[in-house]
Amino acid sequence: MILSKFGEKMTQKSGILQLMDDMGDAMKSDQPINMLGGGNPAMIPAAMDIFAETFAAAQADMGRYIGRYASPQGDAQFIDALVSYLNRHYHWGISEKNIVLTNGSQNAFFYLFNLFSGEYADGSEKKILLPLAPEYIGYSDVHTRGQHFVSQKAKIETTAFEGQTGFFKYRVDFSHLHLDDRIGAMCCSRPTNPTGNVLTDAEMHQLSALAASQAIPFIVDDAYGMPFPNIVFSDATLTWNPNQILCLSLSKVGLPGVRTGIVIADEPVIQAMSALNAIVSLSPNNFGASLATQLLQNDTMKHLSDEIIRPFYLDKVRYAIALLKKELDGYPLRIHQPEGAIFLWLWFEGLPITTAMLYQQLKSAGTLIIPGEYFFPGIADLPNYRHAHECIRMSYAQDEAVLEKGIAEIGRQVRQLYDNA
Ligand code: PLP
Repeated sequence: MILSKFGEKMTQKSGILQLMDDMGDAMKSDQPINMLGGGNPAMIPAAMDIFAETFAAAQADMGRYIGRYASPQGDAQFIDALVSYLNRHYHWGISEKNIVLTNGSQNAFFYLFNLFSGEYADGSEKKILLPLAPEYIGYSDVHTRGQHFVSQKAKIETTAFEGQTGFFKYRVDFSHLHLDDRIGAMCCSRPTNPTGNVLTDAEMHQLSALAASQAIPFIVDDAYGMPFPNIVFSDATLTWNPNQILCLSLSKVGLPGVRTGIVIADEPVIQAMSALNAIVSLSPNNFGASLATQLLQNDTMKHLSDEIIRPFYLDKVRYAIALLKKELDGYPLRIHQPEGAIFLWLWFEGLPITTAMLYQQLKSAGTLIIPGEYFFPGIADLPNYRHAHECIRMSYAQDEAVLEKGIAEIGRQVRQLYDNA
């Protein structure tokens, strides 16, 4: 099969393909797998009960949701419900012209990164600036031609979590952050996948001002953040302004299968993305919109996020940390400050092998994690950046038995590596 340049680029072995394949294989496998690798949210019983009730109520209006296409901008009733929800809770004064839906937020990033980086009509080339690496693995391969990221290594600060030592936090290194006309947009995930970092309000304010000073958009990936699913454990506020492109998702609320992403932005961005929706998929999925409309109208979404989802993950992260600390007591494990999202980012300083090798060893023993190196799009000297090869990402969204077995295996292998060094 001979493919176009686009075909060659989009079918090469990518980190996100490996991740999704591992997840698919684990689900098909008849061997027990400790799946700490994927980005699947937990199926929280109390949340599933709410979805079941909402689903039953939505059936009365089924024709509207599965019997016709929405406009390329997305289901109008859901967009109206979102506008009033966001204005009710955040007073942004947005209208329906500020929202477009996509088939999951991954789909939105494909549009946005290709809209704001790559080749321009005047012959120039622009990049997406990621002000803090590590960043989300799913960004890396979305460009239809080439890779147009530039990113900044983080500053590392020692921290404590709930009175315990052994933690660190990444900070934006503003002293090395340079914006010029070769940057088309800036982007960060908050909370960050893979680290669970939540950029502080002060960092967000400074980044936003920097983007505005260059008249480029500031894309904020809020897949785990406020207002839903609100998996945020630190003090942080959510802001929006017309220079910001805020990307939300229903996935981590517990609905990854409905493939619903939400983008809040200035009108020209919404129009551009709607045009792309029409070409790529005619219109975005209505089904997630049907469920979420009701959840927004009566504020069940707020209850679900604040009272069910957030406490669930906070309990989980505490449990996973206790297991890790027990398994690796006395070994050089450092954990990124858990401030949100559904992952722990573990740093094994001085590990005798790379975490890409550790990943293979753990996989052979039936435990899946993601090696750190995939999370540094835009770092030019990645092979020599030792820190990137000393970290792993593990999900803590799984049930306790899986966490216990998976963390025991990580502990066993990592202890052995340090002991034999
Ligand atoms: N952004 C981040 C930070 C993510 O972790 C994910 C998925 O794991 C996405 C975006 C894409 O999610 P979805 O396409 O399901 O909305």
